[in-house]
Order: sequence, then structure tokens, then C-alpha cells
Amino acid sequence: MAKQIKATGNANPHRKGDDSSSQGPPAFGGLPLSPVTLAALQQAGYDHPTPVQAGLIPKALRGLDLMGQAQTGTGKTAAFAIPILERLEPHRSKAGPQAMVLVPTRELAVQVRDEFVKLAAGRRVHIVAVYGGKPIRKQSEQLRAGADVVVGTPGRVLDHLERATLSLAGIRIVVLDEADRMLDIGFRPDIEKILRRCPQSRQTLLLSATIPPPVQRLAERYMCQPEVLDFSPKEIAVETIEQFYYTIDAEYKFELLVALLAREKPQQAIVFCRTKRGTEKVCQRLSRKFDSVAAIHGDLAQRVRDRVMSRFREGKLRVLVATDVVGRGIDVTGISHIINYDVPQFCDDYVHRVGRTGRMGREGVAFTFVTPEEGPELTRIEMRINRLLQRKEVGELLPSLGPLGGLPQAAARPLPAQPPSVVVSGASSPPAPKPVFGRRVRRIRRAL
Ligand code: AMP
Repeated sequence: MAKQIKATGNANPHRKGDDSSSQGPPAFGGLPLSPVTLAALQQAGYDHPTPVQAGLIPKALRGLDLMGQAQTGTGKTAAFAIPILERLEPHRSKAGPQAMVLVPTRELAVQVRDEFVKLAAGRRVHIVAVYGGKPIRKQSEQLRAGADVVVGTPGRVLDHLERATLSLAGIRIVVLDEADRMLDIGFRPDIEKILRRCPQSRQTLLLSATIPPPVQRLAERYMCQPEVLDFSPKEIAVETIEQFYYTIDAEYKFELLVALLAREKPQQAIVFCRTKRGTEKVCQRLSRKFDSVAAIHGDLAQRVRDRVMSRFREGKLRVLVATDVVGRGIDVTGISHIINYDVPQFCDDYVHRVGRTGRMGREGVAFTFVTPEEGPELTRIEMRINRLLQRKEVGELLPSLGPLGGLPQAAARPLPAQPPSVVVSGASSPPAPKPVFGRRVRRIRRAL
């Protein structure tokens, strides 16, 4: 039976309050870490462990199997990278990797590899990222030259196994990062094949934003009495993020997007769309109106995706139009705005999308475009995040469409009264008209 521990403290490492005051968390020196790791942490500018790191590192150092419920932005990568680096046997890279991290997307593979490289400062270790969209030959050469840690997407790891360019015989630690996402996008068979080829005596760490039954089953099957550490935030979407929605007919969404970007002048924004085609189309149309716009989705060549991501990271792009799979793991601190051009298919995607802003304790704002037919989907999101999104009037931005955003009176969604517990600071929307039916509010209140 898995033992459940509820973690205390702030789930987000970067929120105000995690400073170096005497009441803050103890410094990294309080953890049983080697001088070389402490020096690397100092060089990285990490003064204090985040709650995920403080909870996970000591147990992972003891070789336990752990399931950590934690989202990106909580410092989860360092939480597994630090104990892995500490536990590596030196000068063994020629004998094959000792640790393997499986991740759902190529971007995350690069991000995780870079975090490892940063934290491995002062050590002679080789970290190799293997992911699709890049020539397999170069990765094979890197593996042949010696790797201590392999970070990869399951599909590409399997390719390497089939070509015998990668051996898992020496694996001592496996990490399944963003396990829920890997299962969502159908990696289960690949993950199982890979895990079956790892030595049974290994340590397995699983990180996941949510632990639904499929993740639970995977853990039961492939982990040894894992201890569960719950670092999920109590309020799912951080409270520094203001969250609004517009009810808009699909036909006018693009116009609304243009007007919103022109008014908001975001430092950096991600516009989320549901499909790759939709992403591409919105990006093309937007590029005719604004500079510094690009798209990122799974159909683009890897080198294009890499270039787009580094330009976004460097602040050279203002607006990134993205699909969920690729946009989910983006960790860029300058993102001030999230615009859900399409309502996400899954509630969890809403949480992940919105979590791209408000990072490092900054303020963020999220706008969701909802068509009249998508009312129930909005309600599900609100139930998931335990909070009502505040309605904004389309008429403010597109006066020609009138207050109902081009919708006939009958199609416009009734506006709920805000329950007293919902406080959205700094909201500047006009006074809310009286609710027409109030059914949605009753439904949400019942569910809360
Ligand atoms: P992650 O949740 O692993 O995606 O990490 C989110 C961000 O937090 C990354 O940019 C890390 O470099 C940064 N980070 C991780 N741990 C710490 C720490 N202890 N102090 C400050 N920043 C950190």
C-alpha cells in the first residue's frame, strides 16, 4: 500500500513569501548534499529548496520509490535531478546510462536536460537528450560516446533500444516525469516496454500533476511500494492570476483576439488553440497584424520548434500560438497573458495553460473565449479550479458587435452572480447585469 503524505507549505517555489527571511524554508545546506552539489546550486542561484525539493530529495537519496504529485513550476525537475546526480557512480558513462528520465514532449526533454547540465556543474557527467524530430544518428553518437543520464521521449528511447544504440542494463534510477501527460497522449505501451527492459532492482520516481487511476495502475505495476508525496496546490490556479472569459461567437473570435492584444499589450502571451491546423491559421492571420508572432505545434520540424522556443525564451517573440501538448511545459517567466482562443478539451489542460503565467511570483492574466455552446465546458473548468471566471463584455473591445458579442439574445449565456467568496482583484469590468437563470451558479455552488 502506498503511504500518503500531505506536503505542507507553498507549492509554488516562486511565490512571494519564499524569501530568505528567518521564517522561510531552511537553506539547501540543511539537506544531506555534497559540497559539489551545494556549489552548483549556489551557482544556479537556488538559495532554498522548494517544498517539492525539500520533501523529495532526502527520500530519493535513500533510494526509495516515490510518487510526487507536483506541477511544472514547482522545482520538480531539480527535485529528481539532484538526488540522481548525487547517486551516480563516477566514471561509468562508457558502461551505459545509470539514470533515465522519460518525458512527454521534446521541449520538456530539452528543458530537463538543461536543468541537469546546470546542476551537474563541477562534475564530469554526460547527459544526453533523445527525442523525435532530430536526426537519430547524432543522438546515437552521443550515446556511444558515453552517457550517465538519458532524458528522452518514450518513442525515441524505444527507437534507440531497437537499434541497440542504447542499453538499459545499467539503469539504477528511472524517472517518469509528467506521467499523467505521457499516458494522456498514448505513451503507455511504450513506457511499459521500456520499463520491462530496465533492471528490476532500480529506483523509480514518478512525477505527475494529477494521479488519476491509469497513473496509479502504472505505479502499482512498476514501482516498489511507492511513497506518495502530495505537493498539489490547494488552490489549483494560483491566485496571482486574474481569470476572465468572453462569450463570443466562433466567427468573431479572431477579431476579439486582435482587439484584446492591442488593448492589453502583453509583455509576452501564449494563445492556446485546440488543433495544429487552428494554431497555424491563427498564427498566420495574427502575423499580418502584429510583429513577433510565431506558432508552435507538433507538426513543425524539431529545428523550427527549437528556434521558436529559444526566440520566445529570449523575449524576441511577443506572442506564441500553441497547442496544449507543446505549450504545456513551457517555463518562461515573462509570460504576462494567456489567451485560451479555444476552450481546452480537458479541464486539466486549463490548469496547465493558465499556469504558464503568474510564474516567479509575477502577476498574470488569463482570458478564455467561450462560444455559446461551450457553456458546460466552462462550468466544468470552474468546478475544477474551485473558482468562477469573471465575465468580460465583448462590447468593450468590439463595440460594433454590441454587448452580446454578435450573439442573438437567446444564445447569450446567462451571466452568473459572483458568489461572495470569489474575489478577482483589479478587475475592471462594468457592473454585472442580473443573472437570467442562475442555474450555472447553483450547479457550481453545489459542486464546491
Ligand atoms: P520546474 O518545476 O522544474 O519546471 O522548475 C521551474 C523553475 O524553477 C525552473 O526555471 C528552475 O530553474 C527554477 N527553480 C527550481 N528550483 C529552484 C530553487 N530552489 N530556487 C529557485 N529557482 C528554482
